[in-house]
Amino acid sequence: MKLLSFLHERRRRIGVVDGDIIHVVSWTGDMLDLIRRGLTPTIGAERLSFDEIDFEPPLRPPKILAIGKNYAEHAQEMKSEAPEKPLIFAKMPTALLPHNGIITWRQSITQQVDWEGELAVVIGKRAREVNEADALNYVYGYTIANDITARDIQASESQWIRAKGLDTFAPMGPYLITSDEIPNPNALAITTEVNGEVMQDGHTSNMIHSVPALIAYLSQSFTLEPGDVILTGTPAGVGKGKNPPRFLQDGDEVRVTISQIGTLSNSCRRLD
Ligand code: MG
Repeated sequence: MKLLSFLHERRRRIGVVDGDIIHVVSWTGDMLDLIRRGLTPTIGAERLSFDEIDFEPPLRPPKILAIGKNYAEHAQEMKSEAPEKPLIFAKMPTALLPHNGIITWRQSITQQVDWEGELAVVIGKRAREVNEADALNYVYGYTIANDITARDIQASESQWIRAKGLDTFAPMGPYLITSDEIPNPNALAITTEVNGEVMQDGHTSNMIHSVPALIAYLSQSFTLEPGDVILTGTPAGVGKGKNPPRFLQDGDEVRVTISQIGTLSNSCRRLD
């Protein structure tokens, strides 16, 4: 199923997408409640078109975990070794931004705003110390994230929580594709474009630690709860890796596309 969260007449609803049509789900709670209760989305009679709605992030995750340097060529362009174990950090839930939302920053805070297109995994069931072989059974579905990063802050602070956690620095969406439609999350093409120019052209088969390996590894340390999201790392082609480096500018449009999921699009605005 291709699901989305949206606003319509000031109400937050869930929909099932079928081509150009949004079938409104009869459940009036939000996506996180739906996942927590293990409900299957059932559609009512109401249908909407895309010009009648505003996208919301697919869900409000209890926590957003993220993996650094999970593609060898990206580690190389960052002039560092690929870590032997997954490198874990977190993004702030307050950084969430929907599809079509505007990435904003102040020059006084950062002057090096960079993109990182990533496959995002949404956990469906409580997972604690799970095996790699079972790990995909704990996945509700998949969406797209852009792990926006302030490179100047990242370089000057050993913890990444601020560099990765500024407001609007976690665009996510537009769709949540249930896991039955994506049996192998490590078989997806992923690209990032800035103003139509392809910057990242990767494939999730090139992850150093696969999606099941990441879930198993994380669940040894943290209880993964329904609705938790894991950002699985970015392929090569970030702005800092370009020669000369290139960062997001006021007015830029950044789009992350993953096969079988869709395209996450966001514009950029410098506030001062
Ligand atoms: Mg990243």
